[in-house]
Amino acid sequence: MYTPDFDYYAPQTVQEVCSLLTQFGSKAKILSGGTDLMVKLKHGTIDYEVLISLKELNELKGITYQEGKGVVVGARTTHNDLVNSDILNEKYLSISEAAHHMAGNQIRNIGTIGGNIVNAVPSADLPPIFIALGAIVTILGPEGERTVPLEDFFTGPGKTVLAQNEIVTYITIPDQPTTGSNYIKFGLRRSGALAVVGVASSVTMEGNIIKDARIALGAVAPVPMRAKNAEAALIGKEYTDELLEQAGVAASQECSPISDIRGSAEYRRDMVRVFTKRSLKASITKGHSGEHLETEHGK
Ligand SMILES: Cc1cc2nc3c(=O)[nH]c(=O)nc-3n(C[C@H](O)[C@H](O)[C@H](O)COP(=O)(O)OP(=O)(O)OC[C@H]3O[C@@H](n4cnc5c(N)ncnc54)[C@H](O)[C@@H]3O)c2cc1C
Repeated sequence: MYTPDFDYYAPQTVQEVCSLLTQFGSKAKILSGGTDLMVKLKHGTIDYEVLISLKELNELKGITYQEGKGVVVGARTTHNDLVNSDILNEKYLSISEAAHHMAGNQIRNIGTIGGNIVNAVPSADLPPIFIALGAIVTILGPEGERTVPLEDFFTGPGKTVLAQNEIVTYITIPDQPTTGSNYIKFGLRRSGALAVVGVASSVTMEGNIIKDARIALGAVAPVPMRAKNAEAALIGKEYTDELLEQAGVAASQECSPISDIRGSAEYRRDMVRVFTKRSLKASITKGHSGEHLETEHGK
């Protein structure tokens, strides 16, 4: 299996990336870690004459905390950068843990958050936890910069709001008084498996009352989705296990999973119920923790 011929550019600025994308139009594609793109090129499922590498753009790599803005993650930040970030380990361990349970070490060393979200695979692991934390995507195009909430970024499997000549530059998690957040990936194997169901939540408590809650689901709809009915069932109510069960039932009713080789739609729905409840409980009681990968055979 050979990679088809292509022209290769490694521009020094993000503006140059947009210019090249505009110049070459649909013949060109951005190359970040290449863990998705190169596989598809080799398989012949896509074909581009021009690849525009982001490898020279160090300003897009890394995680910073900016007072008044929040945690800013560059699009070229790798999954292992997320795992090893002191900032995330302190503020949102749930993100580090979500990244830790993705793929194997080699892929985590080169796969990036930008590629993970732009790829728009419904089962991708990073979108649910970032959506649950209210993340905002910053996009640069020839007309300038714009921002889009991550939950509105996806328009269908493999589809996003990104125009052909735009690049994702940053993902920002705004400062918020969240009590805790959590992501549970449920897969068929302990490692190297795509999510059968992914459930993320973030909760803000005031005493025993749930002041705010965000729940995001992966692999159970054409796009990563918020479970807004489940959220509404929680907000303003006193935390009890029964209430979390009600939220789990609501989430399982509002998702729209398909049946495939990794699980039936009915099974996925039931797992949404189970893991929504579990994720919420962890967000409330453990803070910004992650959960270890669950498999069909248990932990
Ligand atoms: C063996 C294996 C296991 C995997 N396991 C998992 C897993 O457990 N969980 C999971 O979620 N994913 C998994 N993946 C998928 C993949 O690793 C991730 O989606 C990864 O984050 C993609 O990032 P990348 O930098 O390699 O993207 P690339 O392959 O470089 O690009 C992917 C797409 O995004 C576009 N793109 C990249 N960056 C930008 C940007 N900044 N702006 C605009 N467009 C951009 C590219 O043009 C391309 O269309 C796995 C892949 C492999 C091969």
